[in-house]
Amino acid sequence: MAASVLPDPTHVVAVIGAATAGSEIARILAERRTTVIVIEQNPRPYGKIEDGLPRWHVKQRRDEYEEINKRLDHPNIHYVPMTRLGRDLDFGMLREEWGLSAVVLSNGAWRDRPFPVAGADQWVDQGLVYQNPLIYWFNHYPEANYNGPRYELTPGTTVVGGGLASIDVVKVLQIEMALKGLAARGIQEDMLKLEREGLEPVLKSHNLTWAELGIAPCTLYYRRRVLDMPLSDIAPDATPKRAEAMRMARAKILEKAQRKFLFEFRDLSVPTGLIVENGRLTGIQMSRTEVADGKVRTVPDSARPVTAPMTISSIGSIPEPIPGIPASGEVYQYANAGVGLLLEGRTAIYAAGNVLTGKGNIKDSLVSGTEIGTHIAEAYLGLRPEGDLAPLTEAARERVHQEGLRMAASINAREPLAGEKVAEIMARVRERQRAIGFEGDFRGWIRKMTPPDLQ
Ligand SMILES: Cc1cc2nc3c(=O)[nH]c(=O)nc-3n(C[C@H](O)[C@H](O)[C@H](O)COP(=O)(O)OP(=O)(O)OC[C@H]3O[C@@H](n4cnc5c(N)ncnc54)[C@H](O)[C@@H]3O)c2cc1C
Repeated sequence: MAASVLPDPTHVVAVIGAATAGSEIARILAERRTTVIVIEQNPRPYGKIEDGLPRWHVKQRRDEYEEINKRLDHPNIHYVPMTRLGRDLDFGMLREEWGLSAVVLSNGAWRDRPFPVAGADQWVDQGLVYQNPLIYWFNHYPEANYNGPRYELTPGTTVVGGGLASIDVVKVLQIEMALKGLAARGIQEDMLKLEREGLEPVLKSHNLTWAELGIAPCTLYYRRRVLDMPLSDIAPDATPKRAEAMRMARAKILEKAQRKFLFEFRDLSVPTGLIVENGRLTGIQMSRTEVADGKVRTVPDSARPVTAPMTISSIGSIPEPIPGIPASGEVYQYANAGVGLLLEGRTAIYAAGNVLTGKGNIKDSLVSGTEIGTHIAEAYLGLRPEGDLAPLTEAARERVHQEGLRMAASINAREPLAGEKVAEIMARVRERQRAIGFEGDFRGWIRKMTPPDLQ
């Protein structure tokens, strides 16, 4: 009798991180009859779609939530929420003791690249703010039960960045400051309207100008030239003419964003020192740079003080270090980066999605053509007046799909696990699911865990 309740021999793969990349890999594997355990640190599985992509992307976020739901809602997928690898689950134990066929890390890039001035991190939340927690706050603070970090945005904030996400940061600042300025005059405005139409038309509808609000705009500092800003991808095989056209497009994108959101911009600027007063970071020393042969050089003795009540660092996200995963500088160290293989062995360890590149743009530039890059940038920046946003890019979806297929092929070359082993692993999974109150109904759990006022 006991033998009849044993599961069939099969592969069992743990996927760490349930969002865009993780859910796609899980689906591909599950459709090939692999048992997939999806381990996610948060209650909900949406990763940067929920906590990174700013909440003015209303439809895009909802669509992507449902795409992820559809992928994860599969009988061969076992969702284990509220379980963080490295905190609730030890990587060494998962790899050595569980006896899995493979582990796939699709845990994204959640660590802000450190601000490039020694000692800066002691001023976090005392004048220095990092992009990831700031956007998390922006996306969630309207929820009645929000209990995460809170930020009081200030006029004249300094933003250090230059990529797409830093444009979102300056948009958040300018929109929030405009809302505040209007509220001070007893006017309640809509964040979505300001994002869609831009600041001036909305202020004009109230017979106001930005100058009349009396709010110092934020300033975005970038270490290279406008033409170097990674606001659109230039394909590696682009002709010189095409590459030049794309560089010009970058300048146009920035110009449009500035026109719409009225922020200041300084290129060729790099932070080289801290200004601290009364136990707070009150500014940074900003040096000039020169760009020659693609390299940035800091001009000696060019530092000048840039004071601001708040400095936001938006210089990129890198994978969180996980004890047991070899790292090389900011990124994990791969046995074969071409196939996302981190560690070989009985339980092979792979990585996929943002975590594979760390910076998230090397692979992007491989898969996305020039037109798509421009398209992403425009949708990302929300600069199109119709407000019709692209879905999370077909190129990005295709990329994770291809990664999943590649991994499935490699994993299927291995021996399936015996029924007894599968049962043993599933007993561990059920124990964890019970401990956190997940009873196996994925859609029911999502309903229960979705705040009624989530945007
Ligand atoms: C401000 C901003 C704007 C953006 N705008 C766009 C846009 O307009 N268009 C576009 O295409 N892309 C955009 N992106 C990028 C896009 O959102 C991400 O690249 C993409 O969603 C990443 O997907 P992912 O699955 O690789 O990683 P993530 O979405 O980061 O998923 C990783 C998952 O792993 C979980 N996790 C992390 N660590 C652990 C752990 N230790 N244990 C268990 N679980 C863990 C996380 O909770 C998360 O669910 C934007 C990003 C930002 C920050």
